[in-house]
Amino acid sequence: MTHLTVDGVTKIFGDPDKDGVVAVDDLDIDVEDGEFLVLLGPSGCGKTTTLRMIGGLETPTSGEIRFDDVVVNDIKARNRDVAMVFQDFALYPHMTVRENLGFGLKREDNGMSTADVNERVEEVATMLEIEQLLNNKPAQLSGGQKQRVALGRAIIREPRLFLFDEPLANLDAKLRKTMRTEIDELQSEVGITSAYVTHNQEEAMTIADKIAVLNDGALQQLGRPEEVFNEPANLFVAQFVGSPDMNIYDGVVEEAADGVRVELDGVSFELPSDALDAEVPPGGVNVGFRPQDFYQTGKRRADGLTFDVDIRVIEPVGTKAIVHGDGPMGDVTAEIGEFHGLSAGDTLSLSIAPEHVYLFEAETEALRK
Ligand code: ATP
Repeated sequence: MTHLTVDGVTKIFGDPDKDGVVAVDDLDIDVEDGEFLVLLGPSGCGKTTTLRMIGGLETPTSGEIRFDDVVVNDIKARNRDVAMVFQDFALYPHMTVRENLGFGLKREDNGMSTADVNERVEEVATMLEIEQLLNNKPAQLSGGQKQRVALGRAIIREPRLFLFDEPLANLDAKLRKTMRTEIDELQSEVGITSAYVTHNQEEAMTIADKIAVLNDGALQQLGRPEEVFNEPANLFVAQFVGSPDMNIYDGVVEEAADGVRVELDGVSFELPSDALDAEVPPGGVNVGFRPQDFYQTGKRRADGLTFDVDIRVIEPVGTKAIVHGDGPMGDVTAEIGEFHGLSAGDTLSLSIAPEHVYLFEAETEALRK
């Protein structure tokens, strides 16, 4: 079991005094024993560089990486006892599955006899349901089977840390979902502290105990999936997490008799003080509505904001539908349950309750409510 700490870590590629690239900027992340951390963010935000520094494949320019209380900055990758799983599987093509799995154990010179190695290989192969593939070479495996072998190679040694770099990126959508559940189950079963890189927010939300959202090398928020979704620290996190994207509009907040008044293009509404968890000063804001938070007016009492949407497109998704349309304040995307009989060209009346309104200060983009 390992407690992983990334403490004030910065990584600059190139000359810091000239045109160096700041890939990771003063990052603080704390991962408890057995916890599953997901590093989430858009391409180029520094996820892989962070993971590679944890694994010892890159050296921080400044700051400390610690495993429990030991600073590992100067410890070589092979001596850190971490197992990495990459998106390209990185299997040895000339070796069978059995040899690929056993390789790490044999190489370690850990005193295991061939019989012990075989026993452990078979145990792991059974766990991953690849025991019938042990004599195949990687070229004879499907993408999902290759990924299972890559996972097997990681868990066979029972390392201190698992590091995953977009391990499912090369699999099709259905297999990706199955494999992410399997990784989740496997990790809970073996209880090894893990860090997992992805730019896929849905993957992050389902697999993580804790998500670190990064942008431009800097940490935007560190929290449990539901915290990051329900209380995004800023506009970036709000827009990056959640599907479909949060609706965002420019607005202005003014003082009202009890609470504040929010003015958007074409509509305005009041938020009573009991719906505000903090003081919201007057000024420019970005106003956010999650597509899932709208309800069809008439289904219950309409407090908060009610407005009409001219439907452009309806996309049924199982028992729900995603509606894209034009509202008074601009484009609106809403997820609704009762869509039968509605079609493009119809008008839909939507409401949103005060407690579901997000306000971000325009200047800092920080969450105000
Ligand atoms: P992706 O999802 O595309 O893999 P990422 O979030 O993992 O992106 P990184 O690969 O960590 O991002 O890269 C962060 C920044 O550092 C990028 O601007 C990248 O161009 C830069 N970078 C990464 N590796 C190097 C390197 N070896 N030399 C110079 N710049 C690098």
